[in-house]
Formats: sequence, C-alpha cells, structure tokens
Amino acid sequence: MKYKRVVVWFRNDLRVHDHAPLFSAIELSEEVIPIYCVDPRQFGKSILGMDKTGSYRAKFLKEAVDNLKASLQKLGGNLIILQGKPEDVITEFAVSNSVEAIFYSEEVTDEEIRVEQKLEKNVWKYGIRTEAYWQSTLFHIQDLPFPISQLPEVFTQFRKECEKFSRIQKTLATPKFIKFPDLGGNYKDFPELSTFGLKEPTSSVKSVLVFKGGEEEGVRRLQTYFWEQDLLKVYKETRNGLLGADYSSKFSPWLALGCLSPRYIYEEVLSYEKDRKKNQSTYWLIFELIWRDYFRFICKKHGNKVFQLAGIKNAVDNWNKSEERFWKWAIGETGIPFVDANMRELNETGFMSNRGRQNVASFLVNDLNIDWRWGAAYFESMLIDYDVCSNWGNWLYVAGVGNDPRENRYFNILRQAQNYDKKGDYIRHWIPELSAIPGFDIHQPFELSTSKLKEYGIALGATYPQPMVKYKAWI
Ligand SMILES: Cc1cc2nc3c(=O)[nH]c(=O)nc-3n(C[C@H](O)[C@H](O)[C@H](O)COP(=O)(O)OP(=O)(O)OC[C@H]3O[C@@H](n4cnc5c(N)ncnc54)[C@H](O)[C@@H]3O)c2cc1C
Repeated sequence: MKYKRVVVWFRNDLRVHDHAPLFSAIELSEEVIPIYCVDPRQFGKSILGMDKTGSYRAKFLKEAVDNLKASLQKLGGNLIILQGKPEDVITEFAVSNSVEAIFYSEEVTDEEIRVEQKLEKNVWKYGIRTEAYWQSTLFHIQDLPFPISQLPEVFTQFRKECEKFSRIQKTLATPKFIKFPDLGGNYKDFPELSTFGLKEPTSSVKSVLVFKGGEEEGVRRLQTYFWEQDLLKVYKETRNGLLGADYSSKFSPWLALGCLSPRYIYEEVLSYEKDRKKNQSTYWLIFELIWRDYFRFICKKHGNKVFQLAGIKNAVDNWNKSEERFWKWAIGETGIPFVDANMRELNETGFMSNRGRQNVASFLVNDLNIDWRWGAAYFESMLIDYDVCSNWGNWLYVAGVGNDPRENRYFNILRQAQNYDKKGDYIRHWIPELSAIPGFDIHQPFELSTSKLKEYGIALGATYPQPMVKYKAWI
C-alpha cells in the first residue's frame, strides 16, 4: 500500500544523502512534504540564564536549513519551515493538508523524545501515522551485537564487540526527484537571528576555518580534507593540534546537524584507503566516529542520568557554585593562559579543538571544582558542533561521573600547554597582549603575576586578571 501524502520532519538530519525517512517516504508515498520546525524552546534560556542556542550555533543552523531547502528545491521539492512547538504546529499542518503519515529521525535524549511522543499522541487522534527511523550513527541500532540495556559501559569493549560482530550498513541513495504537492506556494524562510534576540556573529579571521552550515559545505570540507589536501593519511599524528584547518577533520559541526552522514564519511575513508593509502590514521578517524556512536548509545541506555550532577555513576561530590569563578572561566579570564586562550577561541568562533575542550573542562571541574553541568550548558550554547550526546557524554567523562574505568581524568594544564603548545604560538594567537612582554616565557606561570603584567602595561581586570586560583602544578 502506498500513502497518498507523507511529511518528512527534518531534525538533526539536514541532508538529502543517506537519509532514511526521506528515502522511505519517496518509496512509500505518492507525495512528500519536507518540513523543518523552528522550536522556540531551543532558543530559550538554560542554567544561569545562558542562551540555549547561542548566535554562532544559530547562524550555522540557519545556513544548514537554507542549504537543505535549496537542495530539496533542486530535486523538485521544497522545505516548509514552521515556527512553534513541533507537536502542535506539525499536527495542525498535517491535519489541514490531508497528510497520512509523518516520517522522522529518532532521537535519544529526553527533550527530543518528549516532543516525539507528544506529536505521536496528537496526530494519531486524527488517524495520522508516525514512523521513526534510526540514523546518525555508524552502526545501526539494530545491528548492535547486544541490546541497549546490555551496552558495555567501557568504550573499548563496546568498540571491539561492534568491530567484531556488527557491520556498517551501506549509505542510502540520494533521491533523484521529490513529488511535492502544490500547497499554495507561500513558504517562509528560516527566521533572522534577531527574532530570537541574537546578534549576527562576526566571523573571526583567527578562526581555524570559515565554518558555513549545510550539506554542500560539509561535503566540500570532506573533499578538501581527504582528497585535495590528502590529510587523512596523517590524521593520527596531527589530531591533537590547536591551530589551523589541517590538524583534524573539522567534520563535527556538519555531523552534529546531520549535514554529513557518518556512513558517507566511512565509505569515503574506504575509497581513500583503496585509492591512496591505508594506515593507522585512516582507521583512527573511524575510531573517533565510534566514540561518537558510543556516546549516543550511552545516552539511550542511561536516559536522564546523563544530565544529572551525580551522573551515571551516582557519584556524590561537593561541587562549588561560585558564579564569579564560573564566568571568569567562561569569558577566558582565569589567568591561566592555556585555558583562557581556548575559551577565547570558543567565544570568538564557536569552535575549540578536542585538546582544548579536555583541558578547559578538566580545569573547570578538577581545579575550580565547579558544577560540571554549568560547563556543559555553556558549551551547549556556544559550540557550533553542539551534539547533545557527545557534549554531555564527554563532560560526564571529564567530571568523573560517567562510565570511565579510569578514576581520575585530571589534566595538568601547565604540562599540557608545554606538550601541545610548545612555543606558545596558540596562546599568543588568542591572547596577543602577552606578546607585549619582552622575553615573556609562556610556560613560566609566575611571569603572570599582577606586578609583571602591570610593568608591561597590560590592563588588569577587564582583559587579563591575576590568576584567580593558584594552579596546583605551579606551587
Ligand atoms: C568537554 C567536551 C565536550 C565536547 N562536546 C562535543 C560536542 O558537543 N559535539 C561534538 O561533536 N563533539 C564534542 N566533543 C568531542 C570532540 O572534542 C569534537 O568532536 C572534536 O573536537 C571535533 O573536531 P573534529 O571534527 O576536527 O574532530 P576529529 O578529530 O577530526 O574527529 C572526527 C569526528 O569524530 C568524532 N569525535 C572525535 N572525538 C570525539 C569525542 N571525544 N566524542 C565524540 N565524538 C568524537 C566527531 O564527530 C569528529 O567530528 C567534546 C569533547 C569534550 C572533551
């Protein structure tokens, strides 16, 4: 039986390649209506009054939705952009446009699941069916060699069992044509950022990359990184870098919004291994994508625990609630150059390297002992690659309340800075005022004393305060 008219509700899957709900809708229905819904709750406030979606993220999202619309139009379709709670506005739309079913991509965390459930409840009253599809991971949930309730708590075990007993399904073909009904033609665009009270962010020339949302840009980045610049073969050696576009793939923003499918990346790695080179680096990119899978499945297994202070481990700790300390960390004014440089990069671009994230997160939770959820909420607001599972999962890990077999993930920031930013180029890139000090040794923290900074005319307080905590390793 074919449906007459199906809605494909796009969420964090803003692409036309390897898209299960779209692929199925085209197979199973005479007419297909793609919809994106701008949910006002995503633009509300979170902990400490932070924007849930900050301006870098919002801009990237708008670009991705605009690009999806253009791609669908090229296929003869279109994208209906609705504003409001999906469970209400999609129901209204479906009822008034004689829609028979709604296809969408299944999510794993609480807020998203609740929306799915409410939508389902609302539309079923009108006899409209819903079909949820699993996508966004490398390994399909049905192909896991264990049920979710038995998911190994340790990453290595998860990875080894998946690699041995599972398989990665082939990508689905990109549709050639979408039969879109005539709905009167007055279709809205994604709202301007000012609608949400957000300013249009300016892109910093110091950014590792000019990030632009959308499938087209995501695919272009992959072509550049793999094929034009031939960087995949050295990924394992460079991936801990801090400066420039080349040290890592930078796929994360496109993966987070589903502009790139991980299975597409996997197939490109296989082609690269066949045509160019197969080595530890080519494998390592897949290894990292398995980490991404792992956090998604862990969130599915543990539900709301991943957002709770005691985490998966139910670990009770005395977390500090000093807002002053937290905001100094957030704006990059702790006085610890490596931490501040990373936070300034985040604040000026919406991106930070993995090495940076691990260090600033460890500093917040292990040195400042601040409630780790504040840090996670700040990242949620700021990161253009914000992914609920990767973000909260990694924070749990660093905070020691996740499922890490290692007891202590403490990072010695000073040693990390010496190892990964030997000459201090990264610190100087983001805190150029430090270069004003002749002969300043970035790795001699006592040089950062108030008197030294004053001596060289570096403004205190507003731009660079005295270290607010005596960092353990300096004593
Ligand atoms: C505290 C903290 C918060 C984080 N928050 C996020 C987040 O919100 N969104 C996000 O995508 N990543 C997050 N990460 C993981 C990681 O830092 C980024 O995925 C990575 O820096 C993105 O850069 P890249 O695409 O160049 O990565 P590459 O090194 O090129 O890796 C390729 C891909 O593998 C995946 N990956 C790599 N490392 C991890 C990891 N540790 N966990 C999960 N996936 C990984 C990403 O999808 C990435 O794009 C976080 C890490 C930490 C420590």
